[in-house]
Amino acid sequence: MTLPTTGRVATYRAPNAPFEVTALPLRMPKPDEALVRVSMSTICRSDIHSYQGHRSNPCPGLLGHEIVGRIVALGAEIRHDMRGDPLAVGDRITWSEFFIPGNNYFSEVLDLPQKSPGVEKYGHMASTTPPHHHGGFAEYCYVLPKSWILRLPEALSDAEAAPLNCGVATMVAVTEAASIRLGSTVVIQGLGLLGLYGAALAKSRGARCVIGLDVDANRRENASRFGVDLALDPMLSMAELDPLVRQHCKPQGPDAVIEVCGVAEAIPLGLALIRTGGTYVLAGMVSPDAMVTLDAHRILRKMITLKGVHNYHPRHLMEALDFVVSHQGRYPFSDLVDARYALDQVTQAMADAAARRVLRAAIVP
Ligand SMILES: [Zn+2]
Repeated sequence: MTLPTTGRVATYRAPNAPFEVTALPLRMPKPDEALVRVSMSTICRSDIHSYQGHRSNPCPGLLGHEIVGRIVALGAEIRHDMRGDPLAVGDRITWSEFFIPGNNYFSEVLDLPQKSPGVEKYGHMASTTPPHHHGGFAEYCYVLPKSWILRLPEALSDAEAAPLNCGVATMVAVTEAASIRLGSTVVIQGLGLLGLYGAALAKSRGARCVIGLDVDANRRENASRFGVDLALDPMLSMAELDPLVRQHCKPQGPDAVIEVCGVAEAIPLGLALIRTGGTYVLAGMVSPDAMVTLDAHRILRKMITLKGVHNYHPRHLMEALDFVVSHQGRYPFSDLVDARYALDQVTQAMADAAARRVLRAAIVP
């Protein structure tokens, strides 16, 4: 097939500067690469952190890592996806948000490929870095070597598929780390997209009760559609909050607490609510300097298991896809992507997402 010679990308020159759409050269994929025509890319909270300069990101910055698209050209060495399903031009795919430079101690011995030295991520590189098209806010994206690819069933909408490779896969890893099982009681701090997928996943793992905490009343109201049994305002006093939580997490309080609100000051509350012997998983602290003062004695005395989860293992991506496919009818996942923008509207999309006027903004290039 003949490819266009260029593809459009939306990039920003410096933090908070407006996005500009430019055309950059395209080439045929190498034998171990694929080239995808992007159909949707959703804006993750970490895109916003990068754009606002809360963490360093090279410029001109090409963001967007929650990507779904169709293969337009396929390198000769790529014949199957990670599950073994054959891949061909025209297939719609998702792929891991990260790719690694090669096998290493973290991928081979520690089973933490996402922590490989030199790991790179889609939507985290400058557009001047070849092959230029490696982020979601663009018409095309190369799927680079040592990425994990999954073919998508046509029954899944783009809105259901786009968050799979970051938000959903991360929450599969988080709910696994939280040891949620039949009869578990769970508190989730933060009812954005991560929290809502976390609630639905906790229920599918057998949780008896899921309580969500969020300062936003609209988010609390919406949460029951995704498996949250009780949504509470974390600004309530401890004297009000603790009895309500315990009443639903009898007899001793929640077995697991999951933080996905990204507010460091919320951690002492999680430590106060969790039952003795419970597991507390932090997954929202994606920017550095998330300083907080807490009583470490409480962790010791309550024998709390405290875990951090960053990204996910490739197997979580397969589980994320299977979970969304099997729960499509039960939870309105498509509704979570509640605003769509063209490639020349990325500046507006970022502003709306940053101000939380929308839950998950989607770029449809
Ligand atoms: Zn993300």
